[in-house]
Amino acid sequence: MRVILIGPPGAGKGTQASRLSAKYGVPSISTGDLFRARTKDPNDPLGAEINRIMKEGKLVPNEITVKMIAERLDQPDCKNGFILDGFPRSVEQAESLDKMLKEKGIRLDGVVQIGVDDEKLVERISGRFACGKCGEGYHDKFHQPKDPHKCDKCGATEDPANPETTLWKRRPDDNATTVRARLETYHSQTAPILPFYDAKGVLKVVDGMASMDDVTRQIEAALDPKEGVKKPAPPKKYG
Ligand code: AMP
Repeated sequence: MRVILIGPPGAGKGTQASRLSAKYGVPSISTGDLFRARTKDPNDPLGAEINRIMKEGKLVPNEITVKMIAERLDQPDCKNGFILDGFPRSVEQAESLDKMLKEKGIRLDGVVQIGVDDEKLVERISGRFACGKCGEGYHDKFHQPKDPHKCDKCGATEDPANPETTLWKRRPDDNATTVRARLETYHSQTAPILPFYDAKGVLKVVDGMASMDDVTRQIEAALDPKEGVKKPAPPKKYG
């Protein structure tokens, strides 16, 4: 299964990518995660540059991004497919990916646009956090852990008396100012790739305002070859 998930920040691409990855037994590849890993080493100048760009909510230059994704897609675990989360994010990247896949003789099974209203995104993103051990995602308002000091998924705990050791991680670019810049980047640079994939007949649109489980069902139905002809009409508001 070879799938691209496209949507603005906070649309739920990461959650859906990991669910699809488990269902189809193919890796989910997030360029954002690959970049975040690169920023961990304080002595790495490229990592520092990437960190600066991410904090501004802008796109990391194509020559870095495309090379990184090309190397990742060459890994043996991508032999039977992949779920791309956050790549491509511009027409230039979409064209580079197209070229890469043609060279490998690979066809995409679907490009799924997760549509969400802009107004909801700032609220969604600024409240999100994740377990520092297993990465399970939570939200201040919509999805709190059952025990505020323990991860529901992996059971890791924190000491409430010592906030320094907090288990929960928040992304530095998940603040209202950076989120607005990321949304602006999405509309100006990423949304123009939607007509590119629509023209190829592979674009499917799902309603990302539905519950997470419902969005998963919509995506699975959209990727089901038996349902493939029933492409839902693109919701008007989603860019
Ligand atoms: P994400 O985790 O997908 O929200 O990505 C976080 C940040 O990483 C983005 O705001 C960009 O700065 C950078 N990034 C992720 N994917 C790409 C990409 N395909 N091209 C350029 N920059 C990217």
